[in-house]
Amino acid sequence: PAFGEDDARVGRENALPCLKPVDFAGKFTQECGVYAGRGVFEANDDIIKELLDRKVILKIKKIEHSYPHCWRCNSPLIYYAKDSWFIAMSTLRDELVADNRSVNWFPDSFKEGRMGNFVGNVIDWAVSRDRYWGTPLPIWVCEECGHKHVVGSVAELVELTGADPDVDLHKPMVDRLTMTCPECGHTMYRTPEVCDCWLDSGSMPYAQHHYPFENKEIFDRQFPADFISEGSDQTRGWFYALQALSTAIFGKSPYKNCIALGLVNDENGIKMSKHIGNVVDPWEVLDEFGSDATRLYFCIANAPWVSTSFSKLTLSQFQNRFIGTLWASVYFYSLYSEIDKFDPSNYKLEDCKLRSIDEWVLSRVNSLVKKVTKEFDSYHIFEATRAMESFIDELSNWYIRRNRRRFFNSELTEDKIAAYMTLYTVLDILTRVVAPVTPFVAETIYQGLVARFFPEAPESLHLADYPQYVAAWDKPDLEAQMEVSYKAVEIGRKLREIVRIRNRQPLSECIVKLDSELVLDDEQLSTIAEELNVDKVVTDFDMDELIQYEIKPQLKTLGPKYGRHLKAIGEYFNVDINTEIIKATENGGVYKAVIDGADIELTRDDLLVTEKAKEGYVAETNGGVTVVLNTTLNDSLIERGSVREFISKIQNLRKSSGFEVTDHIVITACSDEYIQKVISDNADFIKSELLCDELGFADVSENEFKIDEHKVAVTISKK
Ligand SMILES: [Zn+2]
Ligand SMILES: [Zn+2]
Repeated sequence: PAFGEDDARVGRENALPCLKPVDFAGKFTQECGVYAGRGVFEANDDIIKELLDRKVILKIKKIEHSYPHCWRCNSPLIYYAKDSWFIAMSTLRDELVADNRSVNWFPDSFKEGRMGNFVGNVIDWAVSRDRYWGTPLPIWVCEECGHKHVVGSVAELVELTGADPDVDLHKPMVDRLTMTCPECGHTMYRTPEVCDCWLDSGSMPYAQHHYPFENKEIFDRQFPADFISEGSDQTRGWFYALQALSTAIFGKSPYKNCIALGLVNDENGIKMSKHIGNVVDPWEVLDEFGSDATRLYFCIANAPWVSTSFSKLTLSQFQNRFIGTLWASVYFYSLYSEIDKFDPSNYKLEDCKLRSIDEWVLSRVNSLVKKVTKEFDSYHIFEATRAMESFIDELSNWYIRRNRRRFFNSELTEDKIAAYMTLYTVLDILTRVVAPVTPFVAETIYQGLVARFFPEAPESLHLADYPQYVAAWDKPDLEAQMEVSYKAVEIGRKLREIVRIRNRQPLSECIVKLDSELVLDDEQLSTIAEELNVDKVVTDFDMDELIQYEIKPQLKTLGPKYGRHLKAIGEYFNVDINTEIIKATENGGVYKAVIDGADIELTRDDLLVTEKAKEGYVAETNGGVTVVLNTTLNDSLIERGSVREFISKIQNLRKSSGFEVTDHIVITACSDEYIQKVISDNADFIKSELLCDELGFADVSENEFKIDEHKVAVTISKK
């Protein structure tokens, strides 16, 4: 019973004596005769031999099983029953269970699951350790009568032992302090053990403030803690130690919210281990991607309590999408505001004449503030960070892209100031919103964007207030309209892909139908038209006119009725008559006709119907938005497509040649008759789009590209 937990339990249940023929060095004691003084492992063979000689062994067999080893030197250990100090946690089981229920656990399942089970079956806590280093147990025991005394403060220790008030509380000094037994007058010595280190870490909430001897106000203000966080493997460790002591001492949980973090596994979800060689060195990751990207990754990849399959590739993707896109937006603003020497402290947003898209983006960033605040308040870090990412994308790929041209204007017009102030305000708010997730990037942006224009602004972004929701900016209808517009554009782009007509090829019209009551205003319709590169967007349209029906006979029902006319019925269906048949058979109606010399009656059950868009149209419905593109091209549309293609190629060339956005250029082109005519006919438009002062033709052969089947070559130079 002295050498195993289960053996000890069975021994206790059956009142067996707890014999200990082994000493602390792992050697047999004097009671063991010839084996006395020999190590328990080393003596094994001789003991087996003796048992064999005495013919009391039935079978000798090796069994493989797990076995405890020293964590440091790896030598095999033995279980050994010895006296320990315990905290009788089992007597506090009900209180622990109740206190644990008061905690918001993330994930929620921990409350009744992992943690709930653990405290519900809690056993007494062995708090003493036979080590030298550690916090000495403050228990003194009488050498004569066994009376025990727990010392509660230095003052009490000084009073009872006569020690110096500066007494060193560590071993060996503290062991020299003795006191007189109040029961029998003999000497009391400190018990030699030190504390289980979990007793120290579990005392953190009060020990850190030297409570109750000092800082009572700070402690009262901070206890219980709003939230703590550690790896989910701390259930039996820190989470429990904190809770056990706090329940015992204060009768309540020391934390209100607890996030039990998932583990970080390798890319394939396998636990990192030196043995397998799949360990990712965090310092390497920090050096390669920076601390903001690394922090961002753990906020955005998955909920923090889910184990992460760590992937550098995914990390770099989030870095690009989040930090990269945010930087690009800030860069855009800085680039133009530097050119214009724009100082936001000279203007007020309230005085600006905002466009509806400005109001939209302010409403969106405002909604973001609301959403992120709500999610952070609920410890939903993942949801908050995802919302930031999606706004960063909207800002860059919708607001800035849609409004670029307002910044290109060389005059600082009223409209340009409105655009600057809107973008400035949004970036200022966004920077503060993302500050907890990407603190260094946010600080850098804040210093360059805000602090240098506002001397009275806080020295650091992290000393500034978190942004507040502004009710006046809230424009839910506008947000809904823009969302629908955006969706229409998405569907339209997808349709272009399906029919393989590139976005630069203008189309004559696009039809947008909404399931909801929402009405898009002219600005939103022209946004859709521009985005989809169509001449007009039509909303008032009878969709039936666009749908063609393909009908085949339903053999199961028609077969028994008109078996020998089936072939003729099948041939009777065609696009011109099908719409009529569909209308007639709506709502249980019947379509009557003479086919193959017979009177035929058809109901909807007799028809296999497929819907598709009319020739020259392509349509799709998604999320309550139907978009139809008229895909018919004429000469004029094709010509404009060629012009757009030409402009786009030259724009890329401008960039790859390293020209500044403000550089004026000269273009010399060479192509066939058709393209040269198209370029000449549209010269003014091309020149204005490309900041081009001169556009001419000559026999050049550089920078060749194709517009459809036409070869083109151009040279460009700075004016
Ligand atoms: Zn060891
Ligand atoms: Zn005594």
